[in-house]
Amino acid sequence: MRAFSYERPASIEAAAQAAAGMDGAKFIAGGTNLLDLMKLEIERPTHLIDVNRLGLDRIEATPEGGLRIGALVRNTDLAADERVRRDYALLSRALLAGASGQLRNRATTAGNLLQRTRCPYFYDTNQPCNKRLPGSGCSALAGFSRPLAVVGVSDACIASHPSDMAVAMRALDAVVETVRADGTTRSIPIADLHRLPGDTPHIEHVLEQGELITAVILPKPAGGKQIYRKVRDRASYAFALVAVGAVVQPDGTGRVAIGGIAPKPWRKEAADAELPNGAKAAAAKLLEGARPTDDNAFKLTLVERALSAVLSEARG
Ligand SMILES: Cc1cc2nc3c(=O)[nH]c(=O)nc-3n(C[C@H](O)[C@H](O)[C@H](O)COP(=O)(O)OP(=O)(O)OC[C@H]3O[C@@H](n4cnc5c(N)ncnc54)[C@H](O)[C@@H]3O)c2cc1C
Ligand code: SF4
Repeated sequence: MRAFSYERPASIEAAAQAAAGMDGAKFIAGGTNLLDLMKLEIERPTHLIDVNRLGLDRIEATPEGGLRIGALVRNTDLAADERVRRDYALLSRALLAGASGQLRNRATTAGNLLQRTRCPYFYDTNQPCNKRLPGSGCSALAGFSRPLAVVGVSDACIASHPSDMAVAMRALDAVVETVRADGTTRSIPIADLHRLPGDTPHIEHVLEQGELITAVILPKPAGGKQIYRKVRDRASYAFALVAVGAVVQPDGTGRVAIGGIAPKPWRKEAADAELPNGAKAAAAKLLEGARPTDDNAFKLTLVERALSAVLSEARG
């Protein structure tokens, strides 16, 4: 691990300003992803800004009937919150399908959204990887790509986004609140937070240097049956090959977001519109333009089957 300096600011403004003043600065929350990447020297921040003492660890009701989840709320606390379990069961289930109890105790809401891909070549510093080293090539294209993305990919990168929580938040239409270094705030629909790789796979989200996530807002409860189904190689402690997060209403309408198949939580309005017509029709819309490899083409069938199982479960 390389040497770095460290500070623990006491205010949101101070944290954002500190990060903006230094190109090599990064926020650290639970550290469960960032520290691993620093040990491998994949992330090389020169300065760490610890955001654990900013008072962003509360879950509050909003005047609109939704919830405001502080950026530092731990995954365990969010999954266990009575309001989340009752009104946003999808989110609670997705969180509990991720990582392990110990990791969830440490992992935070913002850190989970911004965790980096689990593409094996991204972690193997002996291999070319455009995300880690722009312009070096993509080892996954002709290599091991079983866990990687089939939609939203580019010639430069086919990495998938690993978060379970983000899939549920996408289906629930969450909005991310941030503070920039100059003190201005903005609200970013989760649909717009993560970028597709294009020619710049190392740029993964729309946040500016020094822009701090302060909270995630959930709109008022969507009701319906809320189901999270995660298909993976091991029954626990494994990332999704395909995950389906769905809200299904009694009349068969609803929304669905998919994990494990794209560089961001994947949702299409056209697929939502097809839900009453069944899994095949909705999956066809979700997978439009898919570019699978030989290694991960099975995901096309798996999306349809997992969605079919979810819709059957929703119908009882
Ligand atoms: C063995 C293992 C298994 C796992 N399995 C799963 C799984 O099955 N499903 C799943 O979804 N996840 C899984 N995870 C990932 C885990 O959920 C993430 O590591 C965790 O959520 C990251 O949160 P953190 O607070 O520790 O983030 P950190 O490591 O502290 O930070 C991650 C990133 O977010 C940035 N950041 C943090 N807070 C802020 C903020 N407030 N504003 C702006 N930027 C910020 C940091 O700068 C950094 O770039 C697993 C992790 C491990 C190690
Ligand atoms: S898929 Fe992306 S992260 Fe994986 S090797 Fe290729 S460029 Fe790197």
